[in-house]
Amino acid sequence: MDSYSSNDISAVVEADRAHVWHHLSQHKPYETVDPRVIIEGKGMRVWDARGKEHLDAVSGGVWTVNVGYGRESIANAVRDQLIKMNYFAGAAGSVPGARFAQRLIEKMPGLSRVYYSNSGSEANEKVYKMVRQIAHKHHGGRKWKILYRERDYHGTTIGTLATSGQAQRAAQYGPYPDGFVMVPHCLEYRKQWDVENYGLRAAEAIEEVILREGPDTVGCLVLEPVTAGGGVIVPPAGYWEKVQEICAKYDILLHIDEVVCGVGRTGTWFGYQHYGIKPDFVTMAKGVASGYAAISCTVTTEAVFELFKDDPTDTMSYFRDISTFGGCTAGPAAALENMRIIEDEGLLDNTTAMGARLMGNLRALMDKHAVIGDVRGKGLFCGAELVADRGSKEALDEKRVQAVVADCMAQGVIIGATNRSVPGLNNTLCLSPALIATPDDIDQITDAIDQALTRVCG
Ligand code: PMP
Repeated sequence: MDSYSSNDISAVVEADRAHVWHHLSQHKPYETVDPRVIIEGKGMRVWDARGKEHLDAVSGGVWTVNVGYGRESIANAVRDQLIKMNYFAGAAGSVPGARFAQRLIEKMPGLSRVYYSNSGSEANEKVYKMVRQIAHKHHGGRKWKILYRERDYHGTTIGTLATSGQAQRAAQYGPYPDGFVMVPHCLEYRKQWDVENYGLRAAEAIEEVILREGPDTVGCLVLEPVTAGGGVIVPPAGYWEKVQEICAKYDILLHIDEVVCGVGRTGTWFGYQHYGIKPDFVTMAKGVASGYAAISCTVTTEAVFELFKDDPTDTMSYFRDISTFGGCTAGPAAALENMRIIEDEGLLDNTTAMGARLMGNLRALMDKHAVIGDVRGKGLFCGAELVADRGSKEALDEKRVQAVVADCMAQGVIIGATNRSVPGLNNTLCLSPALIATPDDIDQITDAIDQALTRVCG
């Protein structure tokens, strides 16, 4: 890290302290300590303003930089595209927009249309708007409700916060619009039903909500394939088959939120592809361009798309939505190159292999540290839930969870923990290294956790 002078960096840190409002941060401590500023990245590693090197086990903090830092080929693809054609509103097509949509759809049998915007929240909100318009256009206003699951998260706008299964995230920003209804989570470790086939029972709980609300009022069900910030929850066997069956039975559109799992994170292109699900909508954002440009996609079937085709003179018939920067060409140009890298470097296979190593290491840590109550994961997306007591499963207090994260940070490894939005359950360490991780990287991550747990929890 040598491209900035120490004076430059001090000035940056002071400017940041004086003027930048950081995401999801309490700023009071920054009155006395420096805010964290990340200066450079290469491969799996980043350097902060003090010159300290970190192994990034969370892909840019929020499961985003799937192909790693410093990819010149993506920067060049974006640069070349911007010089040729940077922007025209999305009512018109673009060369990278068309090419990326085609490449994406090749990976998503059964789906056929891509709607571009900028963030995961927006991509999800587009689905909610499509569902509402379908209700108006085709169901006489019925089928307008959208079901979401406890502990899942779908975004930060008021509309998507109305589908937050993490209560504290939404608590201070209401009131919310009507028609969003929560169904129970499916985390077997935190059992809500004492039954043999937990997956089936958790899916039946969705059916109970549908029957309570009235099937003709419910238009859509949105689910994360593996719940991310809500605790790295991999649904139990039998869950998805039943969910699919319920959606078909009651004519409910199934929306899979792949904002975290999408584009390789779990070892397949999309998380839902582990389970043979046939979604009506798939949304994606973070890993689509690995953070090299802003892009999100709302992908749907030709059948849904056809519902919006109509008499061209009827100005109420089409999807009346626009996202100014959804017409940017940098996003799809970066996404195309990102996809090429994943394919040419065999990163899906690497994700499966390194994910297995990470889970194996975490299971070994479980034998050593009683404080680990459960480990869960799919591909390079793993969690270790920390408990004060394995018998009662009482959550480890947040102070110590944060101390484990801080200890790893001091060792030069950035790990995450479930956000502070699930009361009493802010206790799952989250690991999501880039898909290029090597065995040494994986071992460095789990060694750091091992040492941190020994220091913090004994
Ligand atoms: N869905 C999921 C599953 C997410 O984890 C997130 C972001 N953490 C979002 C949607 C929202 O994405 P964005 O922050 O890009 O709006």
